[in-house]
Parts: sequence; structure tokens; C-alpha cells
Amino acid sequence: MSYLVLARKWRPQTFGDLIGQEHVSQTLKNAIDSGRVAHAFLFTGARGVGKTSSARILAKALNCEQGPTPEPCNTCSACDEITAGNSVDVFEIDGASNTSVDDVRELRDNIKYLPSRCRFKIFIIDEVHMLSTSAFNALLKTLEEPPPHVKFIFATTEPHKVPITILSRCQRFDFKRIPLPMIVARLRHIVDRENVTITDAALTMVARKGDGSMRDSLSTLDQVLAFCGESVGDEEVVTLLGVVDRRLLLETSRMVFSRDCRAVLDIVKRVDAFGYNMRHFCQELIDHFRNITLLKAVGESADLSDLSEGELTEITTQLAAPALSDLQRHLSILLKAESEMAHSTFPRLVLEMALMKMATMVPVVPVNDILERLKIIEGKAVGGMIASSQPSWEQSQPQGKMREIRPDDSARPSKGTHTPSPPSSASIKGAELPVSSPEDEAAREVGNWPGFVSFVKGKKPMLASLLEHGRPLKVSTTLLEIGFSAGSFELKQVQDPDAMAELKALAHGYFRKETGIRLVSLTGAPGDVPPTLSEKKSLEEANRLRKVTQDATGHPMVAAALEIFGGTINEVEEVKK
Ligand SMILES: [Zn+2]
Repeated sequence: MSYLVLARKWRPQTFGDLIGQEHVSQTLKNAIDSGRVAHAFLFTGARGVGKTSSARILAKALNCEQGPTPEPCNTCSACDEITAGNSVDVFEIDGASNTSVDDVRELRDNIKYLPSRCRFKIFIIDEVHMLSTSAFNALLKTLEEPPPHVKFIFATTEPHKVPITILSRCQRFDFKRIPLPMIVARLRHIVDRENVTITDAALTMVARKGDGSMRDSLSTLDQVLAFCGESVGDEEVVTLLGVVDRRLLLETSRMVFSRDCRAVLDIVKRVDAFGYNMRHFCQELIDHFRNITLLKAVGESADLSDLSEGELTEITTQLAAPALSDLQRHLSILLKAESEMAHSTFPRLVLEMALMKMATMVPVVPVNDILERLKIIEGKAVGGMIASSQPSWEQSQPQGKMREIRPDDSARPSKGTHTPSPPSSASIKGAELPVSSPEDEAAREVGNWPGFVSFVKGKKPMLASLLEHGRPLKVSTTLLEIGFSAGSFELKQVQDPDAMAELKALAHGYFRKETGIRLVSLTGAPGDVPPTLSEKKSLEEANRLRKVTQDATGHPMVAAALEIFGGTINEVEEVKK
């Protein structure tokens, strides 16, 4: 038994079967109803969208024994013969193989005679644009004054190649590409009657391969059925058609929007494992991001994108997060990557870089938004908010200066005021110290220790650097008690008799008195002892930075900016003068 391909088996037999071309079928039906049928038609449009089928339906509508009628009966002998393609009065001529002027002359001779059995002699010329110029000219005469029993139906995919003289004598109908959901619905109708088990997702893949052509979609379905039999699995369709799994595309965009770098790299790995061509995948991604961008820009409009219902739902949930301008940036990254991949030896790398760039892309704030927010800040400034804040900003500066001066003051040796005091129990851990006190306290504890160390630095820098690691346990004009960690390098160095002699001489020089030097070996945690100068320095720096941060974060202008932009402070950086 010979197998009739689906495209022929399911060729539309009435105007009602013709999907996606309602504008054509409605006009033709109205014309037949009102008896105002033109003598020449031109059907234009992409292949497989129903031009030839419409021509046959029109021929039947005109020649049906019950007609002329917009609904041919499809049972009378006239209808049957036309369906079978052997009607003596309906001539289907392939323009591509009957291009010569002789062919047209033969046709003109034929026209003279009345139809043998039907109402009209109908000439369906497919691919009419292939006719030669002389053939068109020969045809023109007939078209100008056709006998009333003759109808011409021309079909072409390239109407611009048809001479204007012919075009102007025809009623023209432009056939559209058939929208994806309509093709899917028609395929569903067919597979159900063919007893084939197949999911909508698989049918969508088949329909998408058809690219708006019903005939191509049906041919693809034939191919799928030949491979899979009557039970069709999604994976089989993916493999057979070599199409990129749409779920992979949806997952890619979802991961890009949730800024998951790892996941997008994983997707590329899977694309590679599936054996997809990287550039092809990138092209599919471009189409996918185009759909998302269109949906974001104009909302749901099925005529702009070929999306199945499931995809539409998924994309609609995804596109809430990204801004339109960000989607446009994603698209341009992909477009750039696609063109780079054409020349790259490492297409996978190009794709990975592009997707990572997309996943880590910082969302842009629209300029209008920024201007709007700046206006609010300006408004607040005029309202006196910033004017009142300025003094406090300036006030903090003199304070800062005073802080810088104080240590210098204390460093100057002056008897009486700087009597050494016993070490306090203040911890040297910065976090536990109150912000304002450590410098003052430290100054009190160590007396003029810093002054002495800087005096030593002027004479014996090596010795001074050792002293910077010592703890001033007692500093007076009569006794200098310095603690070092037990067994430390510094202790050993200072214990050296030469160093002790030098130290004694320097103490005499500084305090102008016979000052005793005692070195103490300290063990355990430095809890109850005063900090060394190097510790003190880092402590001071930490406190100063904390003050700068406090000043900055507490400033009304910063607070206003935070409130308006809804941000957080990550880091306060000091501006170096
Ligand atoms: Zn009929």
C-alpha cells in the first residue's frame, strides 16, 4: 500500500480548512456569494502557506455541480476530479517548466473552446514569475479580454518578478506566514486523527522547523513519524530535528537574570555535551532574547513572536526583573558574540565569556531616574537641609587638627605635667576602647616615653626601633622600666651591654638626670601593660579611620542620598589630599 504524505492527505479541501489565511478565504467567499468573481487572481506568499490549495478550492467552488458556491460539496464528480487533479477543465500548469511563448500560445488556443463539462475553464499557473517575458506578453492579450468562461489563478512566491502589466490585471491576495500556534493546533488535529502520541512541546518543535509553512511543517511531521512510529518522544524529536531544546534557552535566560554565573557555564557545558553547534545555540539565544525583549517592550502580542503557550508563561514570569535597557544590552552582547564566533577558533569560549558578562552585568539605572532623584536632592538642598549641615562638616575639621596637635604637645618634655602613672587596665584591643580616650590615656600612662623614643631616634635609630617594641612600664626621671616579651629578639638586643650603656647615656641626655634603666621580661598576654609605640600607632590609625567613617556615614547629605537611591554604604574611602 502506498503511503500518502500528510501534506497531501490533509490538504485543505474547503475554505474552512485553510488556516491562517482568513483574510483571503473570507474575501473569496464573499465574491462567490455576490457573483462578483474576478477573471484573474494572483496569490502571493511564502511556500507552503496555502496558495495552491486555495486555487484548487476556488476552482471547486466555481465548478462544483452545486455551485458556484463558497462551500464546494467535495462529493460531486467535478469536485472529485479537481481534488484528484484530473479535471478536464482545470489546468494546473507549472510556470517553472512551461516558460516558453509556445506554451502560452498553446494555452491561448485552448482558451477559445468552451469548457467540456464544467462551468469554467480554470488555469492555475504556479510559480508564474518564471514565465519568460515573451510568454508574459502573449498572456497579456488574453488577460485583457478573457472569454467569460475562463478564469486565471496565478501563484507566486516572488510577486516582484511579475510584470506590472500582469499584476494590474489581477486581483491580488497576499498569503501570510501561518502563526506558530495555528500550525500547532492544525498538527494536533491531524496527529489525533492519525492516532499518534506526541506532546505539544514536540509539535511546537516540528512547527517551528516549518517556519510558518504548513506544508514544511507536515513534511517534518512525516519525517518524525517515519523515525519514531506512532509514539513520539520529545528527546527523539530534539535529536532528529537537530533543534536546540527550548527548555535550555529558557533556563539560560533564567540563570542570566538571577545572575548565576556557575549555572550559565554549566549550560554551555551541556550544550557542548549535546553536540549542538555553539554558534547555532547562540543564534537561538538571540532569537529567545529578542522574544523576551519584545514581550517586555510591547506586552503580550503573539503576532510578533513565535512562542508556544508554555514558553509564553515562563518568559512572562522571567521578564519581571530585568529592565528593558538591560535586555537590549543582553541582546547586543549576544549579537557581538555571535559575529565573533564566526571567526573564532574557540566558539565555546566566546559564548562562555558572553554569558558570564550577561550574568554579572550591573543593571543600569535609567538616566531619567537619576535626574529625577537628583532633582529631589536639589529640592532638599534648597529647603535648607544641606545649608544647616555644612557647619557640622566644617566643625569636624578643627577637631581633627586638635587631635593631631595633642600628641606633639605631650611629646615635648615638661616636668610636672607628665608624671608617670601606673599602667591602667585598659585593653589594647582597639574595639574595646572608647573612641575619644585612647590617645589621651596613652599619653598619660607613658608619660614622655614617646618623646624619649623620638629623641633616641635622632641619635641611634636602630635602638629607637627596638624601643618602639618595648612597653613603658615606668617612665620617670629616675627610673626607666621597659618591658619586652620574654625571649624576644628586641629584648636580647637591648640586653646587650653596649646597647644598655648607650641607652643609659641617652636617658641622661634626655631627662638631664641620672636615670636608672631596668629591662623587664614579660610573659603571658599583654593585658595589663601599656601598648608599645608601634601598637599605639596602629591603634591611632584605626581610631582615626573609624572617626572618618563615622563622620562620612553620619553626614546628612550622605543620609539623604542613601534614602533617595535606596542604597547601602559598602566602603568609605579617604580622599588623599
Ligand atoms: Zn461539488
